[in-house]
Amino acid sequence: MRVISGHYVFTGKEFIKNGTVEIDSSGKIVSVGSLGDSIVEKEGTEFFNGIIIPGFVNAHCHIELSHMKGQIPQHSGMTAFCNSVISYRNSDVNEQISAMYEADKLMENEGIVAVGDISNNDLSALMKKDSRLIYHTFVETLNLNPCRAEENIVNARIVKQTFENEGLRVSITPHAPYSLSEKLFAKSVTEGNNSGIISIHNEESCDEMELFAKKQGKMRDFFGKDMDDFLPKYDNPLHRILKYIAPETSLLLIHNTHTNEQDYRQTLKQNRKTTWVLCPASNLYIENNLPDVNMFAKLNAHVAIGTDSLSSNTNLSILQELKILDSKFPETGLQNLLRWATLNGAEALNLDSELGSFDLGKRPGVFVLSNIDFRNMRLTENSQIKRVKS
Ligand SMILES: [Zn+2]
Repeated sequence: MRVISGHYVFTGKEFIKNGTVEIDSSGKIVSVGSLGDSIVEKEGTEFFNGIIIPGFVNAHCHIELSHMKGQIPQHSGMTAFCNSVISYRNSDVNEQISAMYEADKLMENEGIVAVGDISNNDLSALMKKDSRLIYHTFVETLNLNPCRAEENIVNARIVKQTFENEGLRVSITPHAPYSLSEKLFAKSVTEGNNSGIISIHNEESCDEMELFAKKQGKMRDFFGKDMDDFLPKYDNPLHRILKYIAPETSLLLIHNTHTNEQDYRQTLKQNRKTTWVLCPASNLYIENNLPDVNMFAKLNAHVAIGTDSLSSNTNLSILQELKILDSKFPETGLQNLLRWATLNGAEALNLDSELGSFDLGKRPGVFVLSNIDFRNMRLTENSQIKRVKS
């Protein structure tokens, strides 16, 4: 048994001043308490300078795009970004796989213990099996040609089976409201509903909003007439997602850069388990824009944090994402930010029976967050995360 303490313990929900966490040799949480008013080191208690927190959950990543690091110009907008990603997809396979192993290590060193990862193929399966992190893989479907919907779903099921054969958590999910025919969209959401979880990019760019509102613009020009089978039916990306979603499916909406309060309220009517996943570094990279974080905080929305991929980010660090949010939206508060980055992500990925908080019996990992501005309870440029050595 070890008793670990710090200036604060963040349990996954709240701070305990001079808190303590007791773990057994397997890392299982045995008790959570407090040293009281004094931080005089007690015998048998290891004291760390900083906040003791559970491991971070990265709710959105595309590890298979790791080889594209530094390749795509910043601030070029969504349509140009999609075009670049497509052109780099066929790089050397060994190069792609070694970049994924490096990215996995990068996340481990950044205090991340679980990842919701989008995959278009099975190249990441062995890496995920070897990893210390827990992955939920979302096999992504996208195609605007309705004649190919059946073939696309069959292919996605084959990729899904490869991950299942390795004993990994996996489900099928649609890419975004603008990139699937109506037939493929309906089939993909049904697959996701059957698995109880869907992760979909939502209201990410100006181009996407313009496409649905005006039926024209850069995205319309890029994808051409293929959108005619669904575009007239929806005036907002979220309406298309909510049409097919089951109320009990855990719905991860990714980015939400252009989401407003009306959209938020719409989800309350149709889905009980919506999580708003924010990836601020990626939003700054692609569009130099950020979601209305103050609105999400004010509405007490279920928010989680993702890094997106190295094609649109310089790092895969949840702490880096939190530093951006803390500096741009200081009223959010560190307690909200840490909850978004730990327990909420675990809940969204249905991993909260094991991860995300210091509840008894879980094995969430124990980390120390150091270089904190304790006077204002804010992160600093130099804030760091380290695993409490086992
Ligand atoms: Zn993404």
